[in-house]
Amino acid sequence: MVEQTLVIIKPDGLKKSLTGNILTRLSETKLEIIGAKIVRVSRELAEKHYAHMRDKPFFEDLIKYIQGEFHGRRKVMALVYWGEEAIRKVREICGATNPEEADPTTIRGAYGRITTKGVYENVIHASRDNQEAEREIKLWFSPEELIVEVYPTKVVEEKVKKKVWA
Ligand code: UDP
Ligand code: MG
Repeated sequence: MVEQTLVIIKPDGLKKSLTGNILTRLSETKLEIIGAKIVRVSRELAEKHYAHMRDKPFFEDLIKYIQGEFHGRRKVMALVYWGEEAIRKVREICGATNPEEADPTTIRGAYGRITTKGVYENVIHASRDNQEAEREIKLWFSPEELIVEVYPTKVVEEKVKKKVWA
């Protein structure tokens, strides 16, 4: 089945100059990138992205982590990968959530670490299943930012102020 999945190179991945390595590893999947951007993650976006972790004792640290507060780089790279079994293929190359348990040949196994505070700094996020992928892609991207219409869209007329080149 053709699927789409959200990938985020987390602030530790960017700080460690791993963007190229991670994208190279992901290219082994032969999947297509249909959207990509650098994002400054707001508190609101971070909380929505990790809504399912709200009750965890490390939630606050997780929000700080994805916002880049531990790495002095307030940015992440967000991508959408698209193709046959995209979700499984990307998750496989990422490896287990806990970098210590992740196979060393996976991205998280090779580059992740557990901080003394106990946060898994695992350099990459990837959607777990179709439902999560849909929720996350719609959260991080607007339809115009993807070159494939992966979910139904509608046209609305809106009068909004927006920034254009001066
Ligand atoms: N995480 C953590 N400690 C845990 C579980 C999760 O620090 O015991 C962090 C880790 O960075 C992980 C993120 O919370 O990537 C989201 O957790 P999830 O269970 O969704 O794992 P993932 O889908 O990222 O593998
Ligand atoms: Mg998850």
